[in-house]
Amino acid sequence: PRLTRSDLDALPNYVPGRSPVDLARELGLPEAIKLASNEVPYGPLPGVVEAVAEAVTGVHRYPDMGVVALRQALAEMYGVDPDRIATGCGSVALAEHLVRATCLPGDELVYSWRSFEAYPIIAATSGASNVRVPNDAGHGHDLAAMAAAVTDQTRMILVCNPNNPTGTAVRRPELDRFLDAVPDDVLVVIDEAYREFVTDPEVPDGLGYGDRPNVVVLRTLSKAWGLAGLRIGFLVAQPEVAAAVRKVVTPFSTSLAAQAGALAALTQADEVRRRCALVVAERERVTEALRKLVPDVPDSQANFVWLPLGDRAVEFGKVCESRGVIVRPFAGDGVRVTIGTPAENDAFLAAAEAALT
Ligand code: PMP
Repeated sequence: PRLTRSDLDALPNYVPGRSPVDLARELGLPEAIKLASNEVPYGPLPGVVEAVAEAVTGVHRYPDMGVVALRQALAEMYGVDPDRIATGCGSVALAEHLVRATCLPGDELVYSWRSFEAYPIIAATSGASNVRVPNDAGHGHDLAAMAAAVTDQTRMILVCNPNNPTGTAVRRPELDRFLDAVPDDVLVVIDEAYREFVTDPEVPDGLGYGDRPNVVVLRTLSKAWGLAGLRIGFLVAQPEVAAAVRKVVTPFSTSLAAQAGALAALTQADEVRRRCALVVAERERVTEALRKLVPDVPDSQANFVWLPLGDRAVEFGKVCESRGVIVRPFAGDGVRVTIGTPAENDAFLAAAEAALT
């Protein structure tokens, strides 16, 4: 007998980056380089490991379900009221909770495609209909077309800024126009997982839209803050929306370790800025070098770059792996490559040259 939903058969799996340990073993190398999951390559921030170690001495108790201290620290850092904040087991879980809090079966969820691969999975499992609006010719969101795709059934729109996997970012005038055009009973979720790497002053900070009640900003501590393994993200929304999310969230899903690690990480904002500056400098260097091989690499505002290789994407990924570098190919479309340390990036650029010349 069938025990699970038949519609899940058609759903793609979320594919994590390949394990560098496995690849190194396969190739007989001391180590492989993983540039596939948009992590920052500099290790945990100072003080994080110690804070987590200290906190886990109390793991026989549940964590603070209200996440009071961490929400307070986030509120101070971002200049918002703690009532407007909800935390979760990674920002991807918060996106899921937002869909759960807004969409009933048959409602529509609009997003650009290609974008973050978790969006279709989140939408499908909620029973909401996916409305995918193709990226524009520059591989970025076509916000005018996204606004035009809104119907009476639309409950939520996801704007990924900067966009994973293409690195493109929407600018203030287009985002303002888009927000003006979207009905105020449609939730606009601006997923800013990569906000800390944005250098273009014309790319607006979603938190600047606090006077628009239907805007939600999604942030994560997995990328610039170096806590991917702890699973912690947060959102900033109107108090009613944040309260609805806190209601649908799995109880205690912001773990003891995540709360402690995040609190320690937030004291390291200067170090985060320093690391992001290193990543950004490398991003510009890698982009310039890649454009000699693939002229239409788009400008990236994130900690990765996109190679629009079309049908050559999978083969390119294989050549990189054969040289010990794990990247993220999307079949028939392109390859996303995370910015690593200068030495890692050099190894990748050598692999890219071997693959494309
Ligand atoms: N949003 C975007 C655009 C992402 O790329 C990612 C991570 N790949 C996430 C959200 C989820 O991050 P996390 O669940 O680790 O917070």
